Amino acid sequence: MENCIFCKIITGEIPSTKVCEDEHTLAFLDINPINTGHTLVVPKQHVPEFQNVETSLFVEVIKTAQTIAKALKVTVPAERIGIAIVGYDVPHTHVHVIPLLDHHDITSKKLLDDTRGKPTRPELATVAEKVRLALESL
Ligand code: AMP
Ligand code: ZN
Repeated sequence: MENCIFCKIITGEIPSTKVCEDEHTLAFLDINPINTGHTLVVPKQHVPEFQNVETSLFVEVIKTAQTIAKALKVTVPAERIGIAIVGYDVPHTHVHVIPLLDHHDITSKKLLDDTRGKPTRPELATVAEKVRLALESL
């Protein structure tokens, strides 16, 4: 889909910090994480709203989200791992997989307070490497 930032990430036209990829889904780190390890899981097919994703494909997205959650739990500080589907900013279905340290984290208190992380690309790469290593041992 032309002009979709996540389609451009999927094709490699613009850079991302990839965590894992399979035939139908891609997972990469959010550039403005609510907490370290905040990951986005997208279907490779462009569908703006998740309720319109074919169920079998959505199951693949959720499977990847579950796998990422298991890896995050042993990689970054997290009392719980939360998921959210929002899509106000990027109209390509994506599941936020978010390490939670506070029950307000999932309600985007940090977004409202503008206290989200601003990691550099190398910092993102370090986190992604740890998650990828954890994925290998799951
Ligand atoms: P929303 O559409 O409201 O679910 O939010 C979109 C999310 O995508 C936000 O958390 C952004 O920080 C994230 N985001 C936007 N552009 C990029 C990008 N190029 N790479 C990684 N994450 C991004
Ligand atoms: Zn797209």
